Amino acid sequence: MTSAADFVPNRKTLPTLRKAAAGCHGCDLYKDATQTVFGEGPEDARIVMVGEQPGDREDVAGRPFVGPAGALLDRAIEEASLARDDIYLTNVVKHFKFVMRGKRRIHKKPDLEEIRACIPWLDAELARIEPKALVLMGATAAQAILGRSFRVTHHRGEFLDSPLAPLVTATVHPSSDPSVTHRRGATVIVRCFR
Ligand code: SF4
Repeated sequence: MTSAADFVPNRKTLPTLRKAAAGCHGCDLYKDATQTVFGEGPEDARIVMVGEQPGDREDVAGRPFVGPAGALLDRAIEEASLARDDIYLTNVVKHFKFVMRGKRRIHKKPDLEEIRACIPWLDAELARIEPKALVLMGATAAQAILGRSFRVTHHRGEFLDSPLAPLVTATVHPSSDPSVTHRRGATVIVRCFR
């Protein structure tokens, strides 16, 4: 069985990773999506935020968090007195998974095999950036990193032991509940830098 590991280059800078990921066939999701949506942000970012997968708008633009959820995330980042350019934004899965409903492409949650296949890209991004803080947004991202028994609803905003970064925490995904996400997302980000 293939995975992204077969496509990760030996030289792991963000540009070489991004270029290699553009040709990834580590699972079947590349077949229907427009393009790989790799992470975006500075190589020396102190904070990395990870979502589930790109959405419809991200798939077309080729950039993470540029749709409605991204706008909400931008508000949370601003409320935390940070700028988007300070943060590296990425997803656990780099291709958009969807089902057609009429002419609309509707988000479909990636399955375990697809998450496992894609995780080498996130591993390589984190190894390169070595962030001070890692914020996992939503159950898919949190469980991919912290294990399937992890519950965001029980542990949102707590700091968790992980070798991936000095500060690791999880919160709701910005697409989940707009009324709470931007407030709680900002609170979580601020706590990382207290
Ligand atoms: S979802 Fe990940 S593993 Fe699957 S083809 Fe896209 S980049 Fe490769």
